[in-house]
Amino acid sequence: MQILEDTIKKKGIIINEHVLKVDSFLNHQIDPNLIDQIALAFKDYFKHKKVDKIITIESSGIAPALLLGLHLQVPVVFMKKAIPNTLHEGVYQTEVFSFTKQKSYLLNISKQYIHKNEHIIFVDDFLASGEACLGALTLLQEAGAHIEGIGIVIEKSFQSGAQKIKDLGFDLCSLAKIKTMSKNYIEFIS
Ligand code: 5GP
Repeated sequence: MQILEDTIKKKGIIINEHVLKVDSFLNHQIDPNLIDQIALAFKDYFKHKKVDKIITIESSGIAPALLLGLHLQVPVVFMKKAIPNTLHEGVYQTEVFSFTKQKSYLLNISKQYIHKNEHIIFVDDFLASGEACLGALTLLQEAGAHIEGIGIVIEKSFQSGAQKIKDLGFDLCSLAKIKTMSKNYIEFIS
């Protein structure tokens, strides 16, 4: 997606060869026009799929997931990293390891908001080692949902996540695929 690649080149900060900071338009401050175009690109890619619900992980996946949900007119659910004490019903829960924070955390989704046979698109900001995505997919499969596809804003293709997801047979749509990056240099897979 050209405008996304251009924005990453212009506004992204390459912290090191593994970590890209995009908090001026995606992860902290959010560019609503760009996110809207991202959501429309996902909508177009998944146009032949039946979709009942969009699922994401708090917090950075929420913006693109929300706008995709708006365009598809379906609910959006985000997995929580902590269980609030208002969540009395059962939860599906799994532990994942965070690449950026270098520590484990829990993913939680209430059994109220994910049901057997629901058709799901999972959306997230980054795909790196695939831990977060695979953890989320495990919960969705445990709930008996049908995973129609995975929408990723930025895939770091030099890490193992994308290959793992494709090897499992999932339909993966990554809008910007980074082949390689280093200080002042970034190359995308077209
Ligand atoms: P994974 O579990 O695939 O290794 O990493 C996915 C999660 O880690 C994403 O949801 C994102 O929050 C975070 N992440 C991974 N790589 C990066 C990165 O280069 N930059 C930022 N800002 N977050 C990342």
